[in-house]
Amino acid sequence: MIKSSQFIKSIRGTDEIISDGVPQIAFVGRSNVGKSSLINAIVDKKALVRVGKKPGKTKEINFFLTNGTFYLVDLPGYGYAQATPKEREKLKKLIVWYLSESGAKPVLVVLVLDVKAGLTSFDEDMIGILRTEKHPFIIVVNKIDKLKQGEQAQQMAAIRKVSGDAGILAASAQTSRGIPEVLEALNSALQ
Ligand code: GDP
Repeated sequence: MIKSSQFIKSIRGTDEIISDGVPQIAFVGRSNVGKSSLINAIVDKKALVRVGKKPGKTKEINFFLTNGTFYLVDLPGYGYAQATPKEREKLKKLIVWYLSESGAKPVLVVLVLDVKAGLTSFDEDMIGILRTEKHPFIIVVNKIDKLKQGEQAQQMAAIRKVSGDAGILAASAQTSRGIPEVLEALNSALQ
């Protein structure tokens, strides 16, 4: 149960917060997969991470001290529609920097997907990096409410085929389905 989450700071590169000893749980995903909505559903505090409206506005890595014990790290959403190729590249570089060069050792990385989009090449790149860096991670397939029951199982199986042995959860920020399971994964990563 998450009782509090407080914005601490945004970073765009090396910063002391990366290695201050507070455990980090990072959220990564393409723009519009519902990463902000999912974080808000988890934290149960509507205004924590701004949803929608200006996709891609968040170009920094945001740290939220959560329950006073860990940082929820919101990585920038990758690939929003209006971004120029140069902007996309810059955002990807920042994400890759956090995961592979910053020295951060997140106790868990949550890769958020949109069930309809499935695994994109960006997600496959992320999985590759997470494996190389040996960061523990789970895949949360959001917006599961958008598919009918039969289609859900089919799409989850298709994603699982590509994602291999990674833990994978179906969720909906809208209906709250799967949110308790995501919380459980966070809790066990913090043990
Ligand atoms: P972000 O760019 O990944 O942070 O995505 P947002 O949280 O801003 O959400 C993008 C859009 O998807 C918004 O219009 C949300 O209302 C919608 N959305 C987010 N989560 C869900 C979900 O679980 N189900 C459905 N149907 N829509 C969702």
